[in-house]
Parts: sequence; structure tokens; C-alpha cells
Amino acid sequence: MKALRLTTVGKAAELTDVDAPTVRPSDVLIDVASVSLASAELAVQREPVDENLEIPTELPITLGRYFAGRVVEVGSAVKDCAVGDVVVTAPPGSCGRCHPCLTGMDNYCVNPRAKTRLVPGISRDGGLAQQVAAPERLVLRIDGPSPEEAARASQFGLPAYHAIRVAKTMLAPGNHAVVIGGNARARYAMGILAEGIGCRVIAVTDDVAALRAHRTCYAETIIDSADANAQVIRDLVGGWGVDGVLDFVGSEASSAFAGSAATQGGAIVVAGSDGGFVPIGAGRLNRNGSARYVEGGSRGDLREVLDLLGNTKIAVDHTTISLASVVNAKDIDPDDVPVVVIP
Ligand SMILES: [Zn+2]
Repeated sequence: MKALRLTTVGKAAELTDVDAPTVRPSDVLIDVASVSLASAELAVQREPVDENLEIPTELPITLGRYFAGRVVEVGSAVKDCAVGDVVVTAPPGSCGRCHPCLTGMDNYCVNPRAKTRLVPGISRDGGLAQQVAAPERLVLRIDGPSPEEAARASQFGLPAYHAIRVAKTMLAPGNHAVVIGGNARARYAMGILAEGIGCRVIAVTDDVAALRAHRTCYAETIIDSADANAQVIRDLVGGWGVDGVLDFVGSEASSAFAGSAATQGGAIVVAGSDGGFVPIGAGRLNRNGSARYVEGGSRGDLREVLDLLGNTKIAVDHTTISLASVVNAKDIDPDDVPVVVIP
């Protein structure tokens, strides 16, 4: 079968013929229907390689971290999955024993080795191929969204949903929410807030025209980040500010603005990491407010966001390409517009 193989970090991956995957006792074998391309999978093919990048621990390796498809074979120790199930990649590995894991926060597992162990596309062959074998514990059965939608959601909808869930007490229907950023995660968040909850969404982005150009945009108001300040927000919503702020940029400027835009008791969630921090203290964060930094999402979050996407019409613009086209896909940014690969 054809697979996109990375042999050397910093060098282009190649489409090559490989044997069908080996199925371990706890694995399911999946006919891949779609893969949501990760920007790291493109960046790892270029020099210089960013030291913060999640780099495959095994080489050569078939790339492809976020995939969905139909189970065609199950290993002897598989308990719940069955042949015919349609599954999607769940969040990265977790140990299942530490306190975060035991309290449903497996995305904050404190066992670093568990995060990469047997993870397709990281420490074993991934989904940019016609078939992939994955541990049963790293996939989730889907019955609402299409495999294509589920693969995108596992990469972008999941972190958006997680950021919203941790602030949900302040994100009630009719409440105002500011979403900072215009990337795919931010646009999923706008959709979930507006269509899934009924919040009134104010988007703050440095490219207003690009956000408006998307076929689906769930923001009621879009503000250029250069014009965004606490007074503009207060003039817009009245009172002290908005009930929730989700910052998908995480820069010094965006986090400072996030800290100033929330009302008394407002919830601020930073889901971007670009060197910013939310100042807290007298005269800064509005009184009784909260600020949290989040990453990824849990297995439970993925279950919930897939159900939500299956029951609503939330859609985020994306492009679709073939497996052969990935080799030449140099000038695309999947974090901006998700790229779905059909093997
Ligand atoms: Zn753990």
C-alpha cells in the first residue's frame, strides 16, 4: 500500500510502497477514510526544525496523527471495538493511573512516556496511508459526524471545546464571549459558542478580511486586534466587559487584552502559547475573575464535541487533497484552514 514516509527529520517525506501494518493484540486495523493534516507534519520535513516541535521518536515512520476510518480487523486483546466500527484518533496517550487521568483530565497526564507510547504518527506508523494499526485505547468510536469531520474535530474541534468547557459556568446562552484569533481552533470555538451554546461571539483578529472571507463565520462582531481594548468591548456589550474570553493566540498583547476584556467574575482561558501571560492582581484582572491556561482536550471532551458536531450544523471551512498531493503541499497552513487528506 502507499504511505507518506518520513526517513530523516528536516528532509521531505516520500510517498512509498510499504507492507500492510502489523496488528498487535491490543490494536485495531483501520481502513483510513480521512486524515487531518497537522502543521507539525509539514514542519518536520523542513530545515531548520523547531526544537518545540513534536518530532517522531521512530524513523522511518509513516506520518499522520489525526485520522478516521473503518475498523477491518481487531487484535486478540481488543475489548470494545469491533470490525465495522468507524473510529477516530483520540487524544494522545495517557497512563490511566495518575491523578489527572483518574479525574478525567487525561490530556494533563503527568507520565510523559505514556503520551507518546505507541501513538500512530509519533512512535509508530501513522494514518497517511491506506491502512493504519492503532491501539484500541487511542481511538474512539463515532456515529454522528462523518470520518472527515471527525478527523478535523480531533485536531481542532477538541482543543476548542476543551477551552470552552473549562469556562462553561460563564458561557451561558446569551452571554458575551470574546474569541481571540482567527485560526481553525478559534473558528471551531466560535461555532461551538454560537451554535452549540447560544453565546454572542465577538472575534478579535489581526486579519478581519480573512475571517470574514470564510464561508462559515460564527462571530456576531469582528474587531481588528489593533483596535481592541477594554473600552471598545465595554462600549459594545455594556457594563464591565464580557463573560468569557478565549485566547487562541497567547501572545503578550492578546493575553493582556484578554485580562482587560472580562467582566467581574469573568472567565479567561488562554489556549495559545506565544509568550503571553494574563496579569492578575489589584487593578488588573476584574475582581473575582479566573484565568486558566489549557492544552488539548480529554477523551471525554472528544466524545462530547463529536456528539455536538453530530447534532448541529457547525462547520469550519477546509480543503481536501489526495495522499499523493501531500508531497507537494508546501505553501499550506493546516492550522489556518484544515487540510483533509483522502488516502
Ligand atoms: Zn496519567
